[in-house]
Amino acid sequence: MNDYKINISKIYYEKNALEFDLTKNIFDEYKNIEKIPIESHNNIEELRKSENKDFGKLKNILVLGTRKTFKYVENHKISDFLVPFTSSGCYAMCMYCYLVCNFNKCSYLRLFVNQKQILDKLVKHANNSLTEYTYEIGSNSDLLLENLISKNLYNNIEYFLQNTKHGKLTFPSKFKYIEPLKDISDKSRLLPRISLNPENIINKVEFRTSNLIDRLHAINSLYYFGYKPYILIAPVIITDNFEEDYNELFSTMHALLDKKLHDKITFEVIFMTYSYVHRKINEEAFPKAINLYSEKLMTSRGVGKYHYKMQVKDYGKNYIEHLIKVFFPKATIKYIV
Ligand code: SF4
Repeated sequence: MNDYKINISKIYYEKNALEFDLTKNIFDEYKNIEKIPIESHNNIEELRKSENKDFGKLKNILVLGTRKTFKYVENHKISDFLVPFTSSGCYAMCMYCYLVCNFNKCSYLRLFVNQKQILDKLVKHANNSLTEYTYEIGSNSDLLLENLISKNLYNNIEYFLQNTKHGKLTFPSKFKYIEPLKDISDKSRLLPRISLNPENIINKVEFRTSNLIDRLHAINSLYYFGYKPYILIAPVIITDNFEEDYNELFSTMHALLDKKLHDKITFEVIFMTYSYVHRKINEEAFPKAINLYSEKLMTSRGVGKYHYKMQVKDYGKNYIEHLIKVFFPKATIKYIV
């Protein structure tokens, strides 16, 4: 059931986006919303000049454009390549999200309507490869959330599966809207990964995402649909309640995840990185929210980038590994970074 409220305030669209059915469908769906033509989704001057305090308002904007860059980046975690896919940016507002890149430039959802062209590139890459690659299609957006607007996820995944002889797709999500994945024809070639954090962190940091219980039910449902259970603990955030919060998370996971999948889980664990840009936007856009930056726990890496100090992170890694071993002793840990 879709109970998610999306309040789009304005739609900016590239003129050539009007040639695509997806644009027409979205215009029909959002009939009464103001629509503003633009030259390029990459450079909308009035948005680029917005102040940090307007970050939350900018998140209600939808941009429709065509993707022109298709560069695949090699990756060596769960996938082999990060693939520029059907959207960039996101309607949700996680305070640490790396999509808060050049200040406000890519925070809002940019939906690319030339989806067949995007998919044809991917199909060609898979069919021209002797190796069976896994493609990460969700590194620039949350595809389950995007699908509430585009309603295209099922068709896009099926298009890839029907037109390729091999190759897998994967994407992470913080949402419970997994219904479009139920009837995917070959579930061995799709790896949906649900990302979890303690409820306390979700409430205070991951605004507009599904709550923990709903995400856990989504993991069970995906397993019943026929998918292998992949769980991201990400990003791990170290606060004064770190041990308590994450112990509570694992205890809830143990209680609510179907026992049949406990041994089959593959975990990925990623610790939070943060930046000066995040700090400035969060301070001004969410003045009452918790401060994710800690001088005591973090150190700089490159200009304006922060990560946990080595001894802090080592402690955190050991603690999360300990929790996995206690609650899910037979699960696989793919990596902890
Ligand atoms: S749901 Fe994912 S993509 Fe969206 S804001 Fe949160 S971390 Fe970023």
